[in-house]
Amino acid sequence: MLTIIIPCFNEEESIPYFYREASRVLWGMGCSYELIFVDDGSTDRTLTLLKELAASDCHVRFLSFSKNFGKESAMYAGFCNASGDYVAVMDVDMQDPPSLLPQMLDILENQPYDCVGTRRTDREGEPVIRSWFAHRFYRLINKISDVNIVDGARDFRLMKRPMVDAVVATGEYNRFSKGIFGWIGFQTYWLSYENTERVAGRTKWNFWKLFKYAIDGILNFSQIPLSISSWFGIFMTFFAALMMMFIIIRKALFGDPVNGWASLICVIIFIGGIQLFCIGIMGQYIAKIYLETKKRPHYIIAESNLEDTKIIR
Ligand code: UDP
Ligand code: MG
Repeated sequence: MLTIIIPCFNEEESIPYFYREASRVLWGMGCSYELIFVDDGSTDRTLTLLKELAASDCHVRFLSFSKNFGKESAMYAGFCNASGDYVAVMDVDMQDPPSLLPQMLDILENQPYDCVGTRRTDREGEPVIRSWFAHRFYRLINKISDVNIVDGARDFRLMKRPMVDAVVATGEYNRFSKGIFGWIGFQTYWLSYENTERVAGRTKWNFWKLFKYAIDGILNFSQIPLSISSWFGIFMTFFAALMMMFIIIRKALFGDPVNGWASLICVIIFIGGIQLFCIGIMGQYIAKIYLETKKRPHYIIAESNLEDTKIIR
């Protein structure tokens, strides 16, 4: 049994394309399957469409959130409610081609891997500056955290049941799936394919959202930013000691004419800036702890056609 999880947020235009193509491929594979569409609080006709599909096709399940919880929560809801032995996550915009599924399943069935991940070989059609930042982000996070996150990896992956259970078990509130997949381990086979543009609709991500998502990823999987403040502190202390010696010697040799007022102000502002920066970093982590300790649910399902749905988790 194969479960496909499809997060959808205002995707009324893409859903028909995806449904047609995915059904065609899955029929061809000849295994039993379910399509779990997760409506992430859409405000367009997404839910109506999903209900129509569910009424006409018994393979279609849908979970509809009470509001927009984000793609991470939508994927998590899918994992919590998936019953397949193999589980895949796919975008509905056809950027994750369903035609790769047979090959992915074949790899898992015949080779000793627990998961087939996909990565795009290029970032065609994407703004240059965004690609540049993306590459820098992957370089940075791989340097400063102990999880390995593959550059260009997409969320599109097919996993075996033990890995899915592991993902469900990592119940952290601040979810960064690329990091979680890396952290839980298992043998992953990487399949490369060329980037394709979405069939219809618009991307839900702008540069600022992606930037915040990247910062979240770093904060969730690295403690290095916290130690930056310690390093600043040590460096400043040494620097101050050197300055002190310099001033004492100068006083002994030349007396003490009062000057250097401007440089003093510069130093005070500089140190003030660094202190605020470091407090800011600490604040970011504290904010994460705060959210985590509230233990709010990851998602709330308002409507669904799955029996035995895990409504809140
Ligand atoms: N998505 C979602 N909730 C959100 C934003 C996006 O479920 O808050 C879904 C969206 O419907 C799509 C997938 O996540 O199926 C990827 O979104 P998108 O194509 O906008 O991202 P991109 O491919 O541009 O990174
Ligand atoms: Mg997309």
